[in-house]
Amino acid sequence: MITEVFAPVLPVFDCAATVRRLWDYLDRELAAADVAAIDTHLAQCDKCPRHFAFARQFLAAVRAARTQHIAPDTLRARVRATLGLPPLNKDDGADG
Ligand SMILES: [Zn+2]
Repeated sequence: MITEVFAPVLPVFDCAATVRRLWDYLDRELAAADVAAIDTHLAQCDKCPRHFAFARQFLAAVRAARTQHIAPDTLRARVRATLGLPPLNKDDGADG
């Protein structure tokens, strides 16, 4: 008896396909097969990992700045008015 084992077929990404999915990858919005294909590509490529490293550092810097530079209430109110949103109620918290 012949038994065949079928491994799941993963997509194979070149550099362009990998970098095109960079932000979705970092935002964890890709399917598991695409994540695996990107991980495989990153392990073998000498160019793409630096793009991903830069993007990770960029996101970390944005996250760090977000806690250091909080917009004043007057700016928040002007932005909300410009967007046509109702003023924030002080009881709603600062992240609305
Ligand atoms: Zn690459």
